[in-house]
Amino acid sequence: MRLAIFGEQRLGVLTGGGVADVTHALPWPHDPDPLTAGWWRRLCRDFTAVRPALARAAAQATVLPLSEVRLKAPVLGPSKIIAAASNYSGHVTEMHEVQRRTLGRVESWMMEFDVFLKAPSAVSGPADDIVLPPAELAAGHEIHHESELVAVIGVGGKDIPAASAPGHLLGYTIGLDITVRSAADRSRRKSYDTFSPLGPWLTTLDEAGDAGDLDIELECNGMARQKVNTSGLLVPLPDIVAYASSVMTLLPGDVIFTGAPPGVGPIAPGDRLRTRISRLGEMELRVR
Ligand code: MN
Repeated sequence: MRLAIFGEQRLGVLTGGGVADVTHALPWPHDPDPLTAGWWRRLCRDFTAVRPALARAAAQATVLPLSEVRLKAPVLGPSKIIAAASNYSGHVTEMHEVQRRTLGRVESWMMEFDVFLKAPSAVSGPADDIVLPPAELAAGHEIHHESELVAVIGVGGKDIPAASAPGHLLGYTIGLDITVRSAADRSRRKSYDTFSPLGPWLTTLDEAGDAGDLDIELECNGMARQKVNTSGLLVPLPDIVAYASSVMTLLPGDVIFTGAPPGVGPIAPGDRLRTRISRLGEMELRVR
């Protein structure tokens, strides 16, 4: 099943022709306030139980063409955004050159796999522009795209074994981890508003197939920049879940970026980014 959030935080199910509004089929009150967002976290946690009702509603609903709805990010109010660093060898290699250019040195600790946090308020949707901060542009700092497979937590947990990780995930979406290259802390450089576009919808685990065999592509102004298969992840998604949950409890609706493929590069106002992941869809975003 493919789940979308659209309009005033309506819940949609993607069908052949568009989006079926299934908000009325939720077995609890739908709260359109994006800040409280309890209905969404509850859906993430209890999706297995609710799914049959959503499927029935989708089959009976009037389908809205995609051109007539404004898709939002397919997450609401995550308690945290976890992101993996240094998780494709080609990206680790290219970061030596990027760091020499942007920092004047190589920070060896940043070449090791680990997880870090981005502000949940940095999330934006597939219809939103990426807004580059004027102060960073004025400082001459490069701002880069990172096009990543993103997982959304279903049933959360602590100390989740890698073998059990799929049972704790709701699904996947496409994410951009927009990043200022400077000497500042990662959590600040990656947390400006609109620096975590997600979309265009969430594809549940069963429909997405093997997360270790997805093609990720990103084009900037029609030119290919990033192209990788997730089989190249140094730390596969189940092991990221195990590692992250050994540190912090994963809550329903939390978001995990799995790491940047090689080919990161600067973006500028006026650019158009098109990113796609096989079986998960594609989205085009403007930079301003
Ligand atoms: Mn990243």
